[in-house]
Amino acid sequence: MKVYLDYQAAKPVDTRVVDAMVPYFNDKFANPASLHKPGDNATEILQDSRKIIADFINAPQPSSIVFTSGATESNNLALIGAALKNERKGNHIIISEIEHISIRNISKYLERNGFKVSRIPVDQYGMVKLEKLKHLITDETILISISTASNEVGTLQPIKEISDIALDHQILFHTDALASESVIPIDVQKTPIDLITLSSNDIYGPKGVGALYLKKGVRVNPIIIGGGQEKGMRSGSENISGIVGFSKAAEIMKNEMEDEAQYLERLRDRLIKGVLESIPNSYLNGHPTKRLPNNAHFRFDYIEGESLILSLKDQNIAAATGSACSSKTLEPSHTLIAMGLLHEEAHGSLLFSLGRYTKENEIEKTLEVLPDIVKRLRLLSPLTSQELLNYYKEIEKTNYGG
Ligand code: PMP
Repeated sequence: MKVYLDYQAAKPVDTRVVDAMVPYFNDKFANPASLHKPGDNATEILQDSRKIIADFINAPQPSSIVFTSGATESNNLALIGAALKNERKGNHIIISEIEHISIRNISKYLERNGFKVSRIPVDQYGMVKLEKLKHLITDETILISISTASNEVGTLQPIKEISDIALDHQILFHTDALASESVIPIDVQKTPIDLITLSSNDIYGPKGVGALYLKKGVRVNPIIIGGGQEKGMRSGSENISGIVGFSKAAEIMKNEMEDEAQYLERLRDRLIKGVLESIPNSYLNGHPTKRLPNNAHFRFDYIEGESLILSLKDQNIAAATGSACSSKTLEPSHTLIAMGLLHEEAHGSLLFSLGRYTKENEIEKTLEVLPDIVKRLRLLSPLTSQELLNYYKEIEKTNYGG
């Protein structure tokens, strides 16, 4: 039996989405810029899709949606575009210490180009410290960018409060909503965020397509210049099949999110309880309650996450140590270090992320094999404490009547 618990890294495309996309590859393939009838039809489907994505976040104007090639591009457009547009007002940007690598690297790029970037620290649960945020704001601050939730430890950020602070100070607020968009609704009429990064694959649509939402009146400079598509905000022929898939995925997600999130939360809680009860010296990373319904992030004393992943792989279980985009580096997770964990603690981490197709028996299989894997690795590790080794010996005796 195969177990896939790495939905944070990649989600399958819903078959209903695939069916909706198929005609747009070789039947309805026209370019919306063309003046003929098939071109008009392409323009119409582009408008319909834009409206569906706007509805997904309860945005009143479809024109507030700019289609992009995905979250990385949307983050670039939001940060670099807002920085360039507002450089006369100020040159200071605030992000959190635990942003996704795309935001972190864009910020470094901006620093190399004359902007100042401050990084708000987080508490032990990975929650940004609002007091510190207020403290960091200066007359030069033009943008705050904080993700809705940590894609690693699953902690939900106080987005409404951050949005209020930004509004009070007349500073733009951008949020990367990727980690939460499949499980937590966004309503821009309740929380007036200025810029939101959205992605198709994170709601079971195709990869390589996404959007940036811009609140009415918010302007950023384009970063991809060319034929002037997307009202000049993002040049390049529109990826119509991808956009159709993205909008179909959003339509399905909007209808099914509530039930799906409840289902995932139940499975997540079973997994968390099972792991913490059956494995000594295991801990949940991130906030115990204010966390994504599909995220269970653990750490285990005395072992390395990578060894766990490889042992789980042998059992046909797919999991991760943290963010997929940073998985090839040997550095410990910047998120866990920012939360105050020691390097060796950060290395012993394991992320299970659940999704639409996760079955109860996948959770049960994981709970069946994980304690033995952890025990085997600990028995091999020179770091394991004598106390824990004695505990395992006692368990063996009880199990085998020795
Ligand atoms: N932001 C977050 C929070 C992510 O998890 C990811 C990766 N899925 C990205 C941005 C970048 O997404 P993409 O690689 O699709 O551009």
